[in-house]
Amino acid sequence: MRMDTVNQAAAGRPRRIVIVGGGYAGFYTARKLEKYLRRSEAVVTVVDPLPYMTYQPFLPEVVAGSVEARHAVVSLRRHLRRTHVVSGAATSIDHANRTVRVHLIGGGETALEYDEVVVTTGSITRTFPVPGIPDEAIGLKRIEEAVAIRDTMLTSLDIAADLPSGPDRERLLTVTVVGGGFAGVEGFGELLGLARAVARRRYGIARDELRFHLVEAADRILPEVTPEVSAWVTRKLRAKGAHVHLGTTATSIYDSVVELASGESFESGLVIWATGITATPVIANRTDLPTTARGFIEVRSDLQVGTEAGPVAGAWAAGDAAAVPDLVVGGTAVAPPNAQHAVRQAKRLAKNITASLRGRRTRPYQHADLGVIATLGLGWGVFQSGPFLIKGFPAWLLHRAYHVMVIPTWERKLRVLSVWLLAALLGRDIVSLRSVQQPGYGFRHEGQVWFPDARRQSVEAAVVETTAPVESGIHGD
Ligand SMILES: Cc1cc2nc3c(=O)[nH]c(=O)nc-3n(C[C@H](O)[C@H](O)[C@H](O)COP(=O)(O)OP(=O)(O)OC[C@H]3O[C@@H](n4cnc5c(N)ncnc54)[C@H](O)[C@@H]3O)c2cc1C
Repeated sequence: MRMDTVNQAAAGRPRRIVIVGGGYAGFYTARKLEKYLRRSEAVVTVVDPLPYMTYQPFLPEVVAGSVEARHAVVSLRRHLRRTHVVSGAATSIDHANRTVRVHLIGGGETALEYDEVVVTTGSITRTFPVPGIPDEAIGLKRIEEAVAIRDTMLTSLDIAADLPSGPDRERLLTVTVVGGGFAGVEGFGELLGLARAVARRRYGIARDELRFHLVEAADRILPEVTPEVSAWVTRKLRAKGAHVHLGTTATSIYDSVVELASGESFESGLVIWATGITATPVIANRTDLPTTARGFIEVRSDLQVGTEAGPVAGAWAAGDAAAVPDLVVGGTAVAPPNAQHAVRQAKRLAKNITASLRGRRTRPYQHADLGVIATLGLGWGVFQSGPFLIKGFPAWLLHRAYHVMVIPTWERKLRVLSVWLLAALLGRDIVSLRSVQQPGYGFRHEGQVWFPDARRQSVEAAVVETTAPVESGIHGD
């Protein structure tokens, strides 16, 4: 539906609900509103620059090639049938004037007027003023990043396989993950597993040539599990040849050289930055909705924006973007920013909006954390819930069973499951499609096949030279 239609459609009649952000919380809120509200009650619009919600818990498996990238995302237009999808990024939320300004992905600005706004813009990867991050590191929060990590790793193996021992080969076989939280450790474990599984058999590279560095500022990784479990994971990673640097930080990444505060430095062909999350710019800087000192939207326990004493009418928030009171823990605790909470908050939020539109009472969001479950590479993982602990293969199986059950829509579940089953039969797919990042390469380089990076320019030049048309003499005279 066109924007002016969205703005006019509900004038005076159905309420106009604008959901800013179509990730976990936004997608589920819209889906549930479609179920609870009649067409005559509301017109629901989701604004997101991406045409899909990303199932982020599968990103480490996308890195490893165990889940197809397209299967780890859920199309908004296909699965939100009665919701209007606007492809753009909100640039401001002006609640005083009930307007969301949107920069459309095709260019141009539009303004969406609303009666109710739902802020579900999630979070972005937290960075620090470390030189080199934007140019040299890849995050692990978006599907494109997971694909880029996997392709970079596989292309590095392709190149290294033909290089003699020396600094270039060493650099290409060195991977660094900065951040020992869940995302970082899962990504690290999966990538290490992938490289170890294929290096010798497919590339003729000895496993002990692989250098995997995990850098964590705290004195242990995985703060979400007990120190004993964290120590167990660290021991296991080290046993697989990984270098786990604790109590230190990356201070610079320049020309593939990673420097640590501890004084160590090494060349690394692939650097992944996963040091936690921070608020998205639109809520950190461009809204009149109340935010916490850390820049997240302040919400009450029923997910309405504001405080118990000062609710903001017509504004709601959930997921990573919101500081949701954790009623189970109590005090000033807020629910952890994870999918487990985002999904449940979205469902409560949809019920509360429905109740509020129908003049009924809203209810508080309350959820006791189920614990944490992580994949650490093909065939091993960890699950901890209070004193209950499962490690190794059973935890990994549980991880897969849990996530295939909770990824939204049957269609996605079947796609993911079928790839797992086929991989068990046929093995991993190890093709890098890094060349998609430069689709025009062939035109710019006179039909030459694609070459990976600037360091290979000398090789590229050599190929151009050796394949240059032969001027004379071939047929002789
Ligand atoms: C690698 C990784 C693994 C994880 N594993 C787990 C796990 O195993 N279990 C678990 O519970 N949690 C896990 N999480 C965390 C979980 O994925 C997040 O907590 C969850 O996605 C938060 O949902 P959300 O809707 O708040 O944000 P998101 O799902 O990030 O969605 C936010 C959406 O808002 C959109 N957006 C941003 N800015 C704007 C704007 N200005 N205008 C419009 N739209 C905007 C984005 O494009 C995005 O689609 C993991 C996260 C990562 C990165």
